[in-house]
Amino acid sequence: MKIALIAHDAKKELMVQFCIAYCGILSRHTLFATGTTGKVVSEATGLEINRFLSGSQGGDQQIASSIACNEIDLLLLFRDPLTAKDNEPNEATLLRLCDVHNIPVATNIATAEALIHSLARGDLDWRNIVNPTK
Ligand code: PGA
Repeated sequence: MKIALIAHDAKKELMVQFCIAYCGILSRHTLFATGTTGKVVSEATGLEINRFLSGSQGGDQQIASSIACNEIDLLLLFRDPLTAKDNEPNEATLLRLCDVHNIPVATNIATAEALIHSLARGDLDWRNIVNPTK
């Protein structure tokens, strides 16, 4: 499955810890991330990550475009709900596209944990049936 990772600055360390904890599961999948998130996660875990542009440079929109093209199966977006962000409209678009294309999405670590366990159990394998090229 193709998994996209995005973490706001205040949540990057949390994303790193999450990816360290679930490195074994994540390593069995194809990973994508916005620029800085991908950099810190790959440096901390050694995971191979296909990096898009930094979020501020359009990385969120690149991931949105991949979702629209059915090229992402799962999105983990660790949001900082306490800090206003310039690119909030882009994130609203990203989440809307997840709903349009039925992409499982987590916006906090509690949901991300639930999804990663579902992924490990094979509960999300229906995505492969929907899109057998993955
Ligand atoms: P970044 O982007 O991983 O390049 O920091 C994330 C974001 O959009 O906040």
